[in-house]
Amino acid sequence: MRFLPRVAAGECLIGIGMTEPDAGSDAMSMRARIRREGEAWKLEAYKNMITAGHKAQAFFVVTRFPEAGERAMGAVMVDADSPGVSVSKVHKKMGLRGVPEAEVAFDDVLVPDADILLEGDAEGRAMRTILSQFNHERLGNSAMCVGVAAGALRESIRYAQERTVGGKRIIDLQGIGWKLAEMSTKVEAARLMVWRAASKADMAGHDQPTPALEIAQAKWYANVVAQEVANEAIQIHGGYGYTREFPVERMFRDVRGLAIGAGTIEIQKNLIARLLDRGSK
Ligand SMILES: Cc1cc2nc3c(=O)[nH]c(=O)nc-3n(C[C@H](O)[C@H](O)[C@H](O)COP(=O)(O)OP(=O)(O)OC[C@H]3O[C@@H](n4cnc5c(N)ncnc54)[C@H](O)[C@@H]3O)c2cc1C
Repeated sequence: MRFLPRVAAGECLIGIGMTEPDAGSDAMSMRARIRREGEAWKLEAYKNMITAGHKAQAFFVVTRFPEAGERAMGAVMVDADSPGVSVSKVHKKMGLRGVPEAEVAFDDVLVPDADILLEGDAEGRAMRTILSQFNHERLGNSAMCVGVAAGALRESIRYAQERTVGGKRIIDLQGIGWKLAEMSTKVEAARLMVWRAASKADMAGHDQPTPALEIAQAKWYANVVAQEVANEAIQIHGGYGYTREFPVERMFRDVRGLAIGAGTIEIQKNLIARLLDRGSK
């Protein structure tokens, strides 16, 4: 794969093109299509919410391969400067503002044979491989949530130690102390779940399936805990928590997006239930 050396050297940022305006959680309803055209392939796709899509040098695009069957889906690599590739919109977001998401159009883009990463097949093998790779993204997302939640907890403890009300530090008020106790316990529980899932994924190596159940459980729990903890952090900071002078309002906005990206919390619960039904545990 010709992109790998540049990616490894940090010279090629890849945008992931999975979501479409009318197909997010339900990836199977995507419209992107690629067809053989002589020696090469022609891609027609419109992708939404591509993280750093406006800066990417290349795209990983998930698409249908209709000639292999109506449900055949696979993935191709596309150079960002290929004719037919254009960024049509960069979204303004509530949080995670360090890196925007973009809408990118792929109009009759020629893709050489060598850039077909996973050719779609009627049995759905290629799509299963693609979906299993999103487990790694979910793990990263969970770890980010634990990090932000731990930061919100740290800021809250510091503030509660410094802030006095009626001559008393607010950390000495039972109502605030209990909030901190619950926040710290939830952060540690989420951290342990992420560690467990990451350690299982690590032990599985490249040849074994990733531990989908533990990862979905870790993502769901870390997403929920991060939102709860960031919300309580604002409450502990009182009015100041709602201002931009303290970092907790940014943390709250950031974790909100993490509960949607890499598969929403509802989709994680669907996945957990499905895996339990299949006897994963
Ligand atoms: C910060 C961020 C970064 C992202 N980066 C990328 C990226 O780089 N590449 C990319 O391709 N996409 C990216 N996305 C898109 C993300 O993957 C989708 O937003 C997500 O999968 C949800 O799809 P949707 O927005 O179309 O919502 P929908 O699928 O329309 O869902 C709407 C609501 O319905 C719920 N819902 C849907 N189906 C079910 C169901 N079966 N059961 C219960 N509830 C359901 C959802 O949970 C959600 O609450 C990013 C999103 C965010 C927020």
